[in-house]
Amino acid sequence: MIRDIDLKEISDGKLYDLNDMAKLGVDDCSGCHACCCGMGDSITLDPYDVYRLEKGLGKSFEELLASNLELRVADGIILPCLKMNTGDSRFIDGKNERETCSFLDEKGRCSIHRFRPGICRLFPLGRIFDDATHKYFLQVHECHKERQTKYKIKKWIDTPELGRYESYIDRWHFFIKAISDRAPQMPEQDLKAVNMKILQLFYITPYDTGSDFYEQLDQRIAAFEK
Ligand code: SF4
Ligand code: SF4
Repeated sequence: MIRDIDLKEISDGKLYDLNDMAKLGVDDCSGCHACCCGMGDSITLDPYDVYRLEKGLGKSFEELLASNLELRVADGIILPCLKMNTGDSRFIDGKNERETCSFLDEKGRCSIHRFRPGICRLFPLGRIFDDATHKYFLQVHECHKERQTKYKIKKWIDTPELGRYESYIDRWHFFIKAISDRAPQMPEQDLKAVNMKILQLFYITPYDTGSDFYEQLDQRIAAFEK
């Protein structure tokens, strides 16, 4: 999600790179699942998140959309996000909870931990982008447990082929940003067509989960730009 933020208000004032250490560990979150509830539509999914979910759960994007995901519009662009349960409260780890992520199990643990989305992997870190790339910052108001253990950022992100992943994060961010910058000037029908093309090419068309994700993404971006 692209947000205008004042970093001084929400962070410890530092910017971090992959090799930096930050106080991130909180005893494996034992007894807490607060950041998996009440998140609204804020946990957006990029194509690699969907590739990971399709591979991990053996479900198509449409099957995920029927159960665990929904579509949201922000800055003119339609993207998928995690769906929070908005019906009756659920009994989770001894508490009645509302607006829970559908992947949160009854013990208050993430049932898809190995292939959870990138935003969940980062938390409580956020990314801030400049004209070409990004850095990380520590959100200080989002988790109320005391953070005791220092981790290297690159270990915290827990993602293979981190160099390729980081390049992809920039590429996807600036690809979507360029479209959303143009969105206010686009006729409604054109914007609708662009949104359908994004959804179809990058989300609905199944990924070959046995093949390299980044090569598939290159092909899809080339197809988009034709
Ligand atoms: S709010 Fe903090 S302690 Fe609780 S689950 Fe999230 S990261 Fe863990
Ligand atoms: S996917 Fe897992 S970590 Fe992310 S909000 Fe849902 S339960 Fe929490």
